Amino acid sequence: MKLDMLVTEGIGASHADPVLDDAGLRGAIAADKTAVVSIAGDGIGPEIMAAARRVIDAAYPFIDWQEHDAGAEVFAGGIASGVPADTIDAIAEAGLALKAPLETPVGHGGKSANVTLRKLFELYGNIRPARTLPGVPSRYADPGVDLVIVRENVEDLYAGIEHMQTPDVAQCLKLVTRQGSEKIARLAFAQARAEGRGQVHCATKANILKLTEGLFKSTFEEVAAAHPDIQARHILVDNCAHQLVLAPEAFDVIVTTNMNGDILSDLAAGLVGGLGFAASANIGDRVAMFEAVHGTAPDIAGQGVANPTALILSGAMLLRHIGAAAAADAVEQALYDVLEEGRYVTADIAGRHPPASTADFAAAITDRLDPVPDAAWSSPAGGPVWTGPAPAVRRDPRREFDGLDVFVEWHGPVDELASRLKAASTATRFELAMISNRGTMVYPDNRGIADTVDHWRCRFVYRGVESTDLQSAICHLLARVSRVCSWMHVERLQRFDGRPAYTLAQGQA
Ligand code: NAD
Repeated sequence: MKLDMLVTEGIGASHADPVLDDAGLRGAIAADKTAVVSIAGDGIGPEIMAAARRVIDAAYPFIDWQEHDAGAEVFAGGIASGVPADTIDAIAEAGLALKAPLETPVGHGGKSANVTLRKLFELYGNIRPARTLPGVPSRYADPGVDLVIVRENVEDLYAGIEHMQTPDVAQCLKLVTRQGSEKIARLAFAQARAEGRGQVHCATKANILKLTEGLFKSTFEEVAAAHPDIQARHILVDNCAHQLVLAPEAFDVIVTTNMNGDILSDLAAGLVGGLGFAASANIGDRVAMFEAVHGTAPDIAGQGVANPTALILSGAMLLRHIGAAAAADAVEQALYDVLEEGRYVTADIAGRHPPASTADFAAAITDRLDPVPDAAWSSPAGGPVWTGPAPAVRRDPRREFDGLDVFVEWHGPVDELASRLKAASTATRFELAMISNRGTMVYPDNRGIADTVDHWRCRFVYRGVESTDLQSAICHLLARVSRVCSWMHVERLQRFDGRPAYTLAQGQA
């Protein structure tokens, strides 16, 4: 690859000094290298990292790799997060990381170093392209798949706020925020624009989860209004999974909540050859981390046979992220050429040819690097970009207090619970209106639910006036409820601008 191509990629015009030869130019720009933390990881990690860096360096010799640890050995050394302080400091300083897979060892507190890194740096956007690759067997090679899933990465059920409510009832809080939804929607439109894509689907379950998934949907629609040139559509996530299998070519960008995105992005990877070929970017306001989606493949670790494609593609995403789009195109093009030819590929896709080692595969790609990407396989301009933090939207709706949901543990019949709670609440400002079990109303009208558990939601409506001291009134009710049974948690029932900010139980009118 010629340096005149490299110097056009954001290195700075001063580097294009015509009197310098190649060696002189390299020396002159050494000081301007981009620092990227390299985490070689566990299992096949060091092998595929060496291969990926070899290819990236050949296309773009302006990265200052800073090697740091995370994963199995760090856990074994007694660091419960799996990520030592110097790695955290280095990523915070560089703002960029390329990471190979990390093992989540069993028996070291069960934490995942991957999740630690995502949470620590608030890497809220997970970008997972799914694109048909030449020479990689898949059921969808014709007409081909080329889509990107933009997954919210830190909220939703994966915020990990779980409690055992009783010995037999577990609960997980699904937290969706307007701020988080707005940031990911903006990232999805920025991604679409950067890649020249004309359509963004928002996939939710807003028909059932009206408040959480509903907030994600309505926030998406607000953000979409500011991007009239890009077609914005909503699709129910179950239908999205169905349509992805029937007609994946109909999708461009899909933006979705954390757990939906986890599932859809693996589905999409399956359309184009599997997780072994899936690259990803984790985007935050200050840090971006690029990684292969597959794991440490302990069954083939140390044998030099692992396929480095996913990490190389993740490296191309990193290059595009730092503005080195032509180098990213060159890396992808060389990879596509080698995959298509099939003569120097690893055992997992070698077919009729003898398999190449990880290192030989990387060498074949490096040999193919061409400064002019082939139009047929060149990637669209742009890549994962961040357009700046979303402005905080200040909303201050009129609030009214309707009552309380008190979740209690109770082992007897519901009618007895109801009559005791009614008696207990007579001297309070609340009145028992409804009891539900696992979301279905069982009092006052029990429509035949047979399988109740020991965890009951008791809905009390507020009969007092707004101006009274609500905190005292609530404490008074809870003290009275405690005489009947033990309560686990309490939720306020509020109205915002006259609209209920809570759902009704199944069966409640
Ligand atoms: P895995 O992806 O490591 O392996 C599944 C299968 O795919 C294995 O047969 C493996 O040999 C094969 N495979 C995976 N990557 C390959 C590659 N590049 N080339 C050739 N074959 C490849 O999944 P697993 O066995 O469930 O997980 C192993 C470990 O990896 C676990 O500790 C898990 O926690 C960890 N993991 C880490 C990440 C990450 O760091 N992002 C992701 C997933 C799993």
